[in-house]
Amino acid sequence: MSPAEPTTETEEVEEPELPPFLIEGARSGRAKCKTCRRAIPKDTLRIGIRVEGPFGVGHMWHHLACAAKRQFEKVEEAYAMEAWRFAKDEPADLPSLEELRELREVAEQKKKEAKEIPYAELDPSGRAKCKHCGEPMEKGTPRVVLGRAVEFGQQTRTSPINVHPGCVADALQADDSATEVDGFAEALRANSKGLDAVVLDSVLDEIGSLY
Ligand SMILES: [Zn+2]
Ligand SMILES: [Zn+2]
Repeated sequence: MSPAEPTTETEEVEEPELPPFLIEGARSGRAKCKTCRRAIPKDTLRIGIRVEGPFGVGHMWHHLACAAKRQFEKVEEAYAMEAWRFAKDEPADLPSLEELRELREVAEQKKKEAKEIPYAELDPSGRAKCKHCGEPMEKGTPRVVLGRAVEFGQQTRTSPINVHPGCVADALQADDSATEVDGFAEALRANSKGLDAVVLDSVLDEIGSLY
């Protein structure tokens, strides 16, 4: 898709109306992406989506890739109207709409696969050991995935650990546990969608009461 040539018609120039979409290389590094909330570095492709707020009309900026992942329909509309034509400098390396569609599909697939901690599942391999007691986990038996706080330099991240259902109560008391005791059973129910309800009930029985 190549951007259209600028028109050469001479017309009365009216106050230019803000286009509903604008695709361009960021003119500064000051705007933040409204999707991921991170900065949009200068020259990075961004899309402005016109919004009418209490203070007037303006563009909300998103990384083009972020918008493709989260509101692809808008990106489609913007491409249909060749929204890069409204840019001061037309961006040179625009991805095709198909590339952006793929980006969205990958993102949605990942979202489907990403499980929220805590959750219960059936042990897929029989090779893992319980991170609490160190004993092996049997293939096909339920295990519970909890969060453990891990420090990376200045940041703390949560990494998943596998434990036996019977080890959950103790594991949640560990200093580096990143999983809340409050509301644990509810969270486990909400997050363990792949697990049979009867199995899930037996897991919760085995976990027992938490202190
Ligand atoms: Zn973003
Ligand atoms: Zn264990």
